[in-house]
Amino acid sequence: MLDQETVLRRFAQAVEEAHDELTRLDQRSGDGDFGDNLRGGVRAALTRFETGGGTAFGALGEVFLDEVGGTSGPLLGLLFTEIAHADDFAAGAAAGLAAIQRVGEARVGDRTLVDALAPAVDALGSGFVAAAKAAADGAAHTAELRARMGRASYVGERVKGDPDPGAVGIALLFWAVATTAE
Ligand code: ADP
Ligand code: MG
Ligand code: MG
Repeated sequence: MLDQETVLRRFAQAVEEAHDELTRLDQRSGDGDFGDNLRGGVRAALTRFETGGGTAFGALGEVFLDEVGGTSGPLLGLLFTEIAHADDFAAGAAAGLAAIQRVGEARVGDRTLVDALAPAVDALGSGFVAAAKAAADGAAHTAELRARMGRASYVGERVKGDPDPGAVGIALLFWAVATTAE
């Protein structure tokens, strides 16, 4: 069984450390708020988990759906909520990917967080470490991509060379899962 509380704490710590880089990446390709959106969400989820009970992914899902702005807030809220409701992490991540694609309509190659999440979900059958590597590779690969979805599509070629911030955020989540499950 995956220890959800440890995943939340490691993810939150990783997001704190990555905040400035995530901000820089979203300044390059969007409006610069992704670092604040993600950090604000994980901080609020930690508080909700510690004071309100429930599960760690349940707290993440509620906070990101209800309180976190931006395009990423509700989309990540769907992912966390599906993981909270599923029997295991792999099933929840697959359901979350489907929900994100149903709502956001991004496909692999559009330079969004789907470029990290889809290969990670595919690799989950080979274990959490393989999934974390697939997420990191998928996020890194977005640096080669021109955006077709979201704000980054307005700036076109200018963002090439830097990865998509949302995809980097997904890689942090899968890193937290892999290091917890070991
Ligand atoms: P906003 O662009 O509204 O400020 P955020 O900065 O919170 O939103 O989130 C930006 C991230 O959202 C992007 O880096 C990208 O990964 C993700 N994103 C944008 N559009 C989509 C979409 N249609 N499907 C999935 N993810 C998306
Ligand atoms: Mg933004
Ligand atoms: Mg915004």
